[in-house]
Amino acid sequence: MTSLRREAENGQIAERYSRQVLFRGIGIEGQRQLSAGRVAIVGCGATGSALASLLARAGVGLLRIIDRDYVEPSNLQRQSLFGENDAAESLPKAIAAARKISAFNSEIFVDSRVEDVVPGNIEALLEGVDVILDGTDNFETRYLINDFAVKSSHPWVYAAAVGSYGVTLNVVPGKTACLSCIFPSSPAGMVETCDTSGILNSAVNLIASIAATEAIKLLVEGVDAPHLRRTLLSFDVWTNEHAEIAAAQPRSECRTCAKREFIHLAGEQRPHITLCGRNSVQIHERQRPIDFAEMKQRLAAHGTVRHNTFVLKFWREPYEMTLFPDGRAIIKGTTDVAVARSLYARYVGS
Ligand SMILES: [Zn+2]
Repeated sequence: MTSLRREAENGQIAERYSRQVLFRGIGIEGQRQLSAGRVAIVGCGATGSALASLLARAGVGLLRIIDRDYVEPSNLQRQSLFGENDAAESLPKAIAAARKISAFNSEIFVDSRVEDVVPGNIEALLEGVDVILDGTDNFETRYLINDFAVKSSHPWVYAAAVGSYGVTLNVVPGKTACLSCIFPSSPAGMVETCDTSGILNSAVNLIASIAATEAIKLLVEGVDAPHLRRTLLSFDVWTNEHAEIAAAQPRSECRTCAKREFIHLAGEQRPHITLCGRNSVQIHERQRPIDFAEMKQRLAAHGTVRHNTFVLKFWREPYEMTLFPDGRAIIKGTTDVAVARSLYARYVGS
């Protein structure tokens, strides 16, 4: 690089990121590391929105935002990347997030993926990133991420929030405990969901801020970053109770990182999932894409239909079906998988 070009580039970095570059832990070289950094955020709800927003503003060069869901009015209380227009249009969250980010940092690249992370696609979705961040709402996906991350030596950060409480853990495969070391099976206390316990937006933002900072340390200083936290940290913003549990060492009998049995990666593709307390079921069984225009014609006789480029919505009381171009559907109005399946078979077909 010529010295002139380097100077010009330094000038640009210096302006946008001047306050961050001034911070001793980052500096101009750290900022370059962030620009070259690639981060995947799995799930773009409340935690994912906050993570993406912080890292995009900090100048992380590539954010791959993966989310299977669309924006709804009840998201707006805490999911900071979305607006009322996104909810009115039922925009997929990964698309809405990219639009919002481009309005405040057009210099970074956002790679939006409207997909459900499953064993069959996790490698394609997460390969080639430096750090994986958890914005999911369920342990099933977290164990899947943990399997992938341990197997392929990707650092990842677990983050969860419910009620007024948040918890986070850095997993550096081969160096620290992994998620299965700490929770060999889904922790009973974490089966509460946003729907049963509600959620404070401040709890989400606290835990996302901590997780985003750990990601920045990983990008700037690598997996041996001296200040990288090596504990499971929990904090309740309402009661102010907080705790840290040691997680610096892998557990010698851990099925995942010691025995390297990747049972979640090997698992069958999940054909359906009941979503986080939303009175809805996801169906993903069809292997071929859907032509929205054709589907709209077909469904118009049976109820109300509307679509844009990204989603097609079909209302037939008491159900609401949202279809994605790859054939995936979210059926609202039931938690009964058999009911959802039969609706799908009747209206969409196989
Ligand atoms: Zn482990």
